[in-house]
Amino acid sequence: MPTKQIPAPSKDRDYIAPSKDRETPGLIVRSQSGFFTVQTESGLMTCHLRGRLKQGKHVGDIAAVGDRVQVTCQPDGTGSIESIEPRRTALVRLDPRPQGVYQQVILANPDQAVFVFACASPTPRLRMLDRFLVISEKQGLPAVIIANKIDLVGREQAEKLFGFYPPIGYPVIYACATPAPAGGVRETGQGLEELRERLTGKVSALAGPSGVGKSSLLNAIQPGLGLAVREINEVIQKGRHTTTVRQLFPLEGGGYVADTPGLRSLALWDTEPEELDGYFPELAPLVTACQFNDCHHKTEPGCAVRAAVAAGRVHPQRYDSYLRLRAGEE
Ligand code: GDP
Ligand code: ZN
Repeated sequence: MPTKQIPAPSKDRDYIAPSKDRETPGLIVRSQSGFFTVQTESGLMTCHLRGRLKQGKHVGDIAAVGDRVQVTCQPDGTGSIESIEPRRTALVRLDPRPQGVYQQVILANPDQAVFVFACASPTPRLRMLDRFLVISEKQGLPAVIIANKIDLVGREQAEKLFGFYPPIGYPVIYACATPAPAGGVRETGQGLEELRERLTGKVSALAGPSGVGKSSLLNAIQPGLGLAVREINEVIQKGRHTTTVRQLFPLEGGGYVADTPGLRSLALWDTEPEELDGYFPELAPLVTACQFNDCHHKTEPGCAVRAAVAAGRVHPQRYDSYLRLRAGEE
């Protein structure tokens, strides 16, 4: 579902600035150390949370990047977040703390997850991709895969690597982010238009190992975007334990992207082993046909999953990922 856009300020219209008594809707586009930058109709506002929102016991972040909020303007020109709309979706990281498990919201209300991998340099770690896909299934987020650096292996080999994902419901965009070297490379610029279309008008959570070309892809679809994202990541890495900055980056054609490096370290420990098959779309419909209803799909007789693997209806790599994730391997 495309996200409702908050229009950018326009000179043709008279804007009524948010006032102390009048609530204005906005979107949190940045959070850092308890301060929030909110995009409103009349521009960006630095806001803090109204004290009453912080009252009571909280098991997680009260406000986060991607939250839709109502703000009022304070006499000093800053804003105050008065209320927060319930989240449709959220990428959440469970952080065990002495007081109990705390839910860190990596991104509120994403419309989709975009997982970037390279066909080579670095070698694609498809088990990591499968783990990401389980996370997106669990959070009810549509996922898109970017197979970047197709120039290094050629389209045919790229499809051998990633071609089994579209039939199970994950579109793959084959891409090449780098500009043509002298002589030109056939693949240059491929997939970029498709990627731009996929991102436009939506809030996308971007994830993938480092070095796969995330910044290059973002720069290629919008000059400067990749650099801006990288700068924020550097701030995050430097201040790992003291500051967390999260930011949504606006796209020229509408929509936002957020890099979510935190997703890399997102464990599956809040997923019970028994529920894992439900997050593999090609396995989920098979399990009711297994002879045992607590089948691990490993050695049991009458296992419909193993039968499907043997018959070539389930890709052996996906089955292998399932077994390893179930065994708690990363
Ligand atoms: P990030 O860490 O995921 O943001 O990756 P970068 O965008 O920094 O890219 C890592 C390296 O891969 C850089 O040297 C890029 O020039 C290179 N690179 C990015 N995209 C491509 C591509 O499509 N083909 C090739 N051959 N190299 C690429
Ligand atoms: Zn089974």
